[in-house]
Amino acid sequence: MDRFVYSRQPGYDEAATRAAFAGAVPLKTIVIYCYDPRAAAIPVELAKLWVDETYPGDLILDEHGKKVGSTATIFPVVVAGGRATDALRSITIGHHLFGLQNVVVVHHTNCGTSSFTPQGLLDAYRAEQGSDLSDTYGSDNLAIGHLETSLSHDVDVLRRSPAVPAVVKIFGMVFDIDRNEFTLLIPHTTRQRED
Ligand SMILES: [Zn+2]
Repeated sequence: MDRFVYSRQPGYDEAATRAAFAGAVPLKTIVIYCYDPRAAAIPVELAKLWVDETYPGDLILDEHGKKVGSTATIFPVVVAGGRATDALRSITIGHHLFGLQNVVVVHHTNCGTSSFTPQGLLDAYRAEQGSDLSDTYGSDNLAIGHLETSLSHDVDVLRRSPAVPAVVKIFGMVFDIDRNEFTLLIPHTTRQRED
C-alpha cells in the first residue's frame, strides 16, 4: 500500500510536500463540537453565520480526476461534548499542514455529557467494567455541568496549550440544537507571547 503514502514516494521531499499541502485547502477555522447527531448542523450553520467561511465546499480534482484539494475553510473536529482536550492533536496537524486562524469550541444545549456527573461515570465504569478511569482524563473534561464553565475551561485549555499557536484566535460558543442558533459566550482571545 506504499503508493498511497506520500512519504513513501520516490524522491519524497518533506518541505516541498508540506508546501503543496498548504495550497490544497484554504483552512481558516477548526470547529470542535459534539458527535451527537443532533449537533451535526454546526459547521454548516457556522459557515452561514461567518459568511467568509466555506463548508463543506467543493472537492478540487486534478486532470486525472484524483482528489487533490478542497475549497473548505472549516475543518470539523467531532468529539464527545465538543471538549477541547480531545482536539489538540488535530489542531496541531491542521496548523502544520494548512495554517490556521481560528478555533471555535462549541458546546450544545441538552448535551448527553450534561446527563451524568464525572463521579457517576467513574463509579459506573468501576462497577460495570472493573476499570478505574480516575486518572485517565481529568474530571473537568468528562461531563458538562454548566455551559459557561465548560466553555471557559475549554478555551483556557486551548489557550494554555503549546499545541495552539499564539496568533490563533479562540472562540467559545453555545449551539441551540432546536433553534440552530449560536450564542457567542467567549469572544476571541489571543495569547500574548511571553518572550
Ligand atoms: Zn453532545
